[in-house]
Formats: sequence, C-alpha cells, structure tokens
Amino acid sequence: MKRTIQKAAVLGSGVMGAGIAALLANSGISVLLLDIVPEDVPANETQHPVSKGNKLVRNRLSKDAIKRILHQGPAAFTSKRNVERVKTGNMEDDIAQLQEMDWIIEAVVENLEVKKNLFQVVEKYKGADTLVSTNTSGISIHSMVKERTKEFKSHFLGTHFFNPPRYMKLLEIIPHTETLPDVISLIKSFSENTLGKGPVVAADTPNFIANRIGTFGLLSTVHHMLESEWSIGEVDSLTGVLIGRPKSATFRTLDIVGLDTLLYVTKNHSNEIRGREAEVLQPPPFMEKMREKGWLGSKSKQGFYKKVKYDHHTDILEINPHTLEYEKRKKVTTSAVIQAKQEKDLAKRLKMLVYSDDDAGRFIWNLIKSLLLYTAEVKDQIAKDITAIDDAIRWGFGWELGPFELWDSIGVKPSIVKMEQEGETVPLWVKEMINKNIATFYKDPLTFYHEGQYKTKSMNKKHVQWVTQRNKRVIHKNPGATLFHAGEDVSYLELHSPNDAIGLDILQMIHRSIEETEKNFKGMVIGSQGKNFSVGANLMLILMEAQNEDYYEIEHIVRRFQETMTKIKYAKCPVVVAPHGMTLGGGAEICLPAASIQASSETYMGLVETGVGLIPGGGGNKELYLRYLERTLSTEIDKIDILKASNQVFERIALGTVSTSAEEAKENGYLLQRDRIIRNEEDRWYYGKQTVLELFDQGYMPPLKRKVPVSGEAGYASMKMAAKMMQYGGRATEYDMKVADKLAFVLAGGKVRIGEFVDEEYLLDLEREAFLSLVGEPKTQERMKHMLIKGKPLRN
Ligand code: NAD
Repeated sequence: MKRTIQKAAVLGSGVMGAGIAALLANSGISVLLLDIVPEDVPANETQHPVSKGNKLVRNRLSKDAIKRILHQGPAAFTSKRNVERVKTGNMEDDIAQLQEMDWIIEAVVENLEVKKNLFQVVEKYKGADTLVSTNTSGISIHSMVKERTKEFKSHFLGTHFFNPPRYMKLLEIIPHTETLPDVISLIKSFSENTLGKGPVVAADTPNFIANRIGTFGLLSTVHHMLESEWSIGEVDSLTGVLIGRPKSATFRTLDIVGLDTLLYVTKNHSNEIRGREAEVLQPPPFMEKMREKGWLGSKSKQGFYKKVKYDHHTDILEINPHTLEYEKRKKVTTSAVIQAKQEKDLAKRLKMLVYSDDDAGRFIWNLIKSLLLYTAEVKDQIAKDITAIDDAIRWGFGWELGPFELWDSIGVKPSIVKMEQEGETVPLWVKEMINKNIATFYKDPLTFYHEGQYKTKSMNKKHVQWVTQRNKRVIHKNPGATLFHAGEDVSYLELHSPNDAIGLDILQMIHRSIEETEKNFKGMVIGSQGKNFSVGANLMLILMEAQNEDYYEIEHIVRRFQETMTKIKYAKCPVVVAPHGMTLGGGAEICLPAASIQASSETYMGLVETGVGLIPGGGGNKELYLRYLERTLSTEIDKIDILKASNQVFERIALGTVSTSAEEAKENGYLLQRDRIIRNEEDRWYYGKQTVLELFDQGYMPPLKRKVPVSGEAGYASMKMAAKMMQYGGRATEYDMKVADKLAFVLAGGKVRIGEFVDEEYLLDLEREAFLSLVGEPKTQERMKHMLIKGKPLRN
C-alpha cells in the first residue's frame, strides 16, 4: 500500500484536467498530463513541416492546455516555475508510464462509455498499488468499473474537484464499496495536508452532495421566481450576500456555470428520481428556449444577463423570462430588506427576513424552507452525517452557512412550527430531535446531532485546536482585535475590523498584546479569521484628516504605526504573523518585521501604497529592503548588493506589485527561507503556534539593533533612472514620477554616500516625512478618494 503521493498522472487536459495538474504541481508533485491524439490537423499544422506522426502534433492537446492555463486568470499555478513539474504527452505513446505513478486521476469527458473504456486501458498499464480516481461530476462510480478486477476496485474511488481546482476548497471523495480504507485515508490526508483541500466523503448517488443540493436550490429559486412577481435581478438582490451567499447569487452563478452544464447535470439526475425533487429539477420552458438560442451565460456573452456597450458606458441588462427581452436590471428595496441590510450578523439578518411579513421576506422564507426540507429528506442517501453536507455546501458553493447551520441560525423549533402551519411535512428525524428537547443541529462547532444524540465531528486535528481554544479565554478585546489565550502559554491576536482595515484600535491592541505576552506568554501569533488578513491602513481615516489639513494628527498616526511595527520586531518574545488572502499595504507591514511569517498558500501580499499616491508609512520600505539584503548570498554585503537590493525594492513598491500566491511572495522577496507556506489555510493558527513554541524552545532573542547600509546618492540616481524607464515604457504617469522620487529618496537613505550605515530610526524619519508631504498633495487625495469609492486605483 502506498504511503505517500509524489508522482501523478492526469488523463484529460480540458478545463478540469489541466487545472488539477497545476494544483498538484503547485504542491510539489511531478505530473504527467495526457490527452487523446487529436484527429483533426488544423490548417497551420499542415503547413508546419511535421507530419501527424510527430510528437508536437500528437501531444498537441495537452501542450495547448498548458499554454492556455499559463495565460488564464485567475492563475492556475502559484508560481509560473511550477509548470516545469508538468510533463505532457498522449494516451497512446505515453500510456506505459502509468506504471510508475502513485495516483492516476481521470478527467475526460463526462461520458460513461468513454470513462469505462479508458479504465480498461488503465488497468493494463497501472502499477499494482497505484491509486486511480475519477473526477466525474455525477456519474455512478460503480458503473464505471463494473468490469474491472477486484484489485482495481480496491484502489479506485471518485475524487470530485470543483472548478477552478486551485481555488475551490471542496473535494468530494466517493469511495467504491470495495475501496480499501487505507486508500480513502491516504487520499483524504493528502488532499487536506498537501493540496489544502476540504475533503468530504460522499455516497455514490447522482451528483453526490454539493451539486445535488446546489442544483436543487438553484432550480427551486427559478421556480419560486416564476411564481412570484420578482425579476431575475430582483431575485439576485435577495439571494446573494444578503442571505450569506456569494455576490453572484442565483442567476449570475448560473451564467458562470453555463446553462448547458446546469441542464446536463439536472438531466443526469432527473432520470433516477421521482416526486417533488423531479418536479423541481424539470427546468422551466424559458430556460430551454434560452439554451436553443445559445444564450448559455458568460461563455456565449449572454445568458440571464447581458453586458451592453454604449458610447460612454456599459450597462448590464437582465432577461425577462416571459418575453426573453433584455431589460434594465432591478433590485428589491422593501422595508424588510433595507432593515436587514443594516444588520451585520448573518443569523440575526436571516431571522429578520424569514419571519417578516414582507413580500421579499416571504420569498426568502419559501426558498430557504424548500431547501431545508429537501436537504433533511435526502441527508441519509447522500452523506454519512450533516457535517458532510454543511462542509460541502460552504466549500463548494461559497455559502457562509451550510443548510443545517442555517437552520440553527433561524431557530429549528419556530421554523418547523411555521412549516407545519403551511402544510409541509417535516422529516421525522428532525421532529424527533425537537421532541427530545434538542433545539439545534450543532451544540458547538465540533458537536452535532446524529441519530438521536450529539456526536463529535471528526476534524483535522490541527484545526480542532484552534476551534476549541478560540473564544474560551479572551484576555483583551477592542473593536479592531481580540487577544486570546491559545493554550501552552501562547497568545493569539485576532484582527477583526469591519473592512479588514488597520486603524488605531488595532495598533493599540498590538501594543497592549505584546506587553501582555512579554509578561505572561511564550510568544504571540497575529492573524485574522476574516476573508483577508488585511487590506491595509484605514484610508478613510487618513483622507479625512488630510482634507481637514490636520497633519499633526496624521503624523501621530504614522508615528504610531511605525512604533507598533518596531515593537513587533524587537518584542522580547517571538511574534509570528499568519496571513492569508489579501495582505496589502499596512497588512504586509505587520508581517515584515515578524520573527516568522506563516503564510497560507493563498496569500496575496504587496506594498501597494503608490496606487493611492503614497508610499508605505509603517516601516515597510525599510523592512522589505532589509529582507532583500538578507536574501543576498554573500556574507559580506558589498556596494553592488546594496544597489541591487534598493533598486529591486524600489521596483516592487513603485509598481505596487502584489504577489498572486505565498510562493510568489517568496520569489518577490516578501517571504524569506525562514518563513513557511501553509498548504491548508485552516492550519495557519496551528503552525503559527507551533512556530512560537519552537522559537521559544530554541531560546528566542529579539534581533540585535543594527545599522543599515544604504545606497545613498548613487542609489537615488539609479532608482530615478529606473523610474524614467518606467515612464518611457508607459508604466508611470507624471504624478507617479513624483511619488517615485519620494520613494527613491527614502530607500536610498537620503543624501549620503553609498555603503554608509544609518540608524533604522533615521530611515523611519525619512519615510514619515515623505508620507506627510505626499498626503497633502491634491492628486494623492484624488487617488485615495477614488480607491475608497471605486475600489480601484486612479492613475492621474
Ligand atoms: P473538457 O471538455 O474541458 O475536457 C474533456 C477532456 O476529455 C479533454 O481533454 C478531451 O480531449 C478529453 N476527451 C474527449 N474525448 C475523449 C475520449 N474519447 N477519450 C479520452 N479523452 C477524451 O471537460 P472538463 O470540464 O474538464 O470535464 C472533465 C471531467 O470533469 C468531466 O467528468 C466533468 O464532469 C468533470 N467536472 C467538470 C467540472 C467543470 O466545472 N468543468 C467540475 C467538476 C468536474
């Protein structure tokens, strides 16, 4: 039996195959990507001096797939270098290589016969203990391998990745009745720890868990819409963020998925079901008509929505399902909706909506009601318990709450009273739960209702620690952050400001927490539970002070920022930062002085202040520069190294480059060898804590305060030259040049000779002065305003 996976083959290089190959390569796996030998020879290839017998032609599909994903967005590779781990080939010439593989993943067209035939070939070539899996979206796992040997079946299972594989957390694992338990546990632990996925075991029933519940939810919303007066746009305004689902809500999601795919999935399913489920899955005639017209969604440029370009602007129109004409997009603004929007807490918001006597509230109630009843009815067919369903829906569809979590949040008892008053039949097991005086499906995040009693959820051990420690022992709290006791004498500082922005409250908490930790703990971890670590300093605060011309206050804020970052660096105990998601501007500045950065693989890090006409003001210039110096291999840093480091840092900050992954952040100099990349985002607190403990055990000492060698006037001239080149290349405006000039001066260490050693405080003074002079500039203020209103940079 295999103990680990190091070599994998992916069969089929379409949307999923290529994405899965990149996902594996990102985790260090060597991948062989095979596709069929193309039958057609395009015109340009016949002119090519090679015949069909040539490798270039025979491997065209897999080779083209790699080219395609290298250029597609969002990026499939966490670093372009990872492409080197993927070898391409075809299923005829290279099939014998399957012998050497640890894992073979089939991702060819969703067609039972094609898959069956392929597994017949795979069985001939694979190694005795090679694992084989299918990425089918919903075809029966059993039917695919009926004719295969017992030995094959014992190493076979379904592994259903979601699109795009790098970014979607859910991996449904569908065992065959003969799959060896060791095979299931290897795939589970590998996908969780190495690929960073959220594995969920599903039963071999049509469309497994997420698509089964998800398509029911989507189609029942369509039927509810047709029974109501609401339009497509109105329904989307009710079924997105308002009720804890993604912004794309119902119809925008369908446009992204593609109407043809949705209808295919429902058909795959509807042959095997009866009653209410079959009725809901029967698509309404207007959707069939849209398919006939080829209005499939994003891929055909029109679907439920259509983007229309006018002379000076573009508009998004919605389709009228009764006339199939595109009309102006509408939104619902009933009093219940307006009130609910004021409420930040999702559970409270849902309660306000579903029990309100308002048209929109009733609409939301009806769709939530049918989804909850349906999920409770099919639960035992599709999953081993409710946690698998909740995880699958959260991770596969991006809902904040899975169905049973949602049911808890609106109150199980009052909701079933309402359902029964409306003549619905509530599944017996739910009524039994209430009759036993058990009021919720979950007692806490780790304990759930199962067959008459509460049971403990089996969960990633590393994550359990965090869930159990969190909220137990709060030490200090303010609106921006909370300091917890994390056990084993480690403290956790969780940032939680409303828009992931850093204000004075967070700075104050960092100060206070370090002081507390120095006295009573071994060290501290800083992280956030929000969508992002931090999008940077609170721009609104700075803009308001700038518009009031209160530069004294801005100076105070910047000074406070710098002092806090210095405190992180020179704390007597290790301060470890565990970022994830967007880690921009001030967010990156919190990381850079840390004793260690434990970054989740999906960390997007960058000092982006120039985009709003500023330069970093929390010591980020100095710290990134120091990281570049630390990267130089030579022990004796010479003038060339200094010049090179200041130029490279200048380019990163002037262009506001954001790393598209933690791996790229390492390539961009934000992370060093001593920092760690964490594959599974949920493990970041665990590794943060482990790192604190390791550093403590090694006898942690704060870094020595050393003078910094700077590039001085020579560096300043060289950076200015680089800025000129950016301007010639069309990458910098006149005003960018002004900002770049200030940045160059700060990074160069002012008017000194190259190689001169200066104090860190002196560099911070230069940074503060430059920041203050820029913040008063009208063009900087225009940039800040634009960013706050439009959410993107203005290049004025
Ligand atoms: P695709 O159409 O992009 O790619 C299909 C691949 O199959 C291509 O590489 C094609 O060359 C190959 N192929 C075609 N005919 C073949 C044959 N006769 N023998 C062997 N290979 C053949 O499809 P996709 O979206 O990548 O889907 C692949 C699998 O993943 C399907 O089972 C699909 O249901 C499943 N899936 C798709 C998604 C999605 O969102 N696209 C999500 C999850 C799972």
